[in-house]
Amino acid sequence: MAEERKARPYISVYFKCCKAYARVYLNRAGDAFSGHCPKCTQAVQVKVGEGGSSSRLWTAE
Ligand SMILES: [Zn+2]
Repeated sequence: MAEERKARPYISVYFKCCKAYARVYLNRAGDAFSGHCPKCTQAVQVKVGEGGSSSRLWTAE
């Protein structure tokens, strides 16, 4: 049985504001990863392809 839903891609973001890591998932449009800090809900958005594709870990100021 194949899964109908594929796991959405995500990146790991380190939130300096709360010194916490969180997964940030690809948005519906598929052109950016958007999410928020798990503690203070500060929004973060990372465009796909920004800064190269090899980086999977981002830091949110
Ligand atoms: Zn925060």
